[in-house]
Amino acid sequence: MIPRDYLIKAVDDDKQFRIILSSTTGAVEEAHRRHQTSATASAALGRVLTAALMMGSDLKGEADALTLRIKGDGPAGAIVATADSAGGGRALISSPRADMPAQTPGKLDVGGLVGKNGYLEIITDLGMKQPFRGQVSLVSGEIAEDLAQYYLQSEQIPSLVALGVLVDTDLSVKAAGGMIIQAMPGARDELLERLEQNAIRMGPISDAILKHETLEEVLAQVMEDISYHQIESRELSFRCKCSRERLAVILSGLSAEELADVYENNGEMEVTCNFCNQDYRFKEEELDEYRNKKPGN
Ligand code: ZN
Repeated sequence: MIPRDYLIKAVDDDKQFRIILSSTTGAVEEAHRRHQTSATASAALGRVLTAALMMGSDLKGEADALTLRIKGDGPAGAIVATADSAGGGRALISSPRADMPAQTPGKLDVGGLVGKNGYLEIITDLGMKQPFRGQVSLVSGEIAEDLAQYYLQSEQIPSLVALGVLVDTDLSVKAAGGMIIQAMPGARDELLERLEQNAIRMGPISDAILKHETLEEVLAQVMEDISYHQIESRELSFRCKCSRERLAVILSGLSAEELADVYENNGEMEVTCNFCNQDYRFKEEELDEYRNKKPGN
């Protein structure tokens, strides 16, 4: 069992492709715990979070952010994950309790929960005027295939994507992780075929996370008979950007009329962060303080 959340990147010595491997068991368990997801919803949410954390590792700027959004016609509703450039990510799912009977014993029906008809969208915010948006139609709702389709269609990069979440009988997350292999322009087919064979021999990525002590061991297995070198390693974690102060600033920007009903009903304003389910309560006087602190008041 790989005991911590991190990712590594490597390229083969001929620079024909690059590979990203991640273990995300802790982050996905945290997402499950915060959203109280069903087994299949944990798998769907965990795959989306794992993918976003890996894609976020290509961001450079401190304030850069990547959002992965999947919306199919299944009972899950929308699934959204965002990642920053420092290895932090968070995720939400519209219907965390929705579940599906397994079609194949032991295999959670993520595609059924997400639905086949819909889209996958990537929004990359690099601090420019407009964030970059790319969208593709879903292939299967299994998320890894859909992401591979995104890379091919939107970025013209042939990719092999594997995302895996293993859920235990007590609904806790036993193992989670992912692998993205991307071909560089002009990559030799035989090399890619060998990689694919190695990946098939390795089996599901979540089993590999469970079986090995480090990602470097998993990497060595995928890269069998291929010379390569590792280029990066970074820590990953579930991390939400919300804070009491941030929400207070937003709430204090609403007009008295907009807030009137809330005060009358509760005497207190309660807000829940959709991404991490943290509750925040504010008294009217407290929001007044923020209002008075604002420049121009
Ligand atoms: Zn939050």
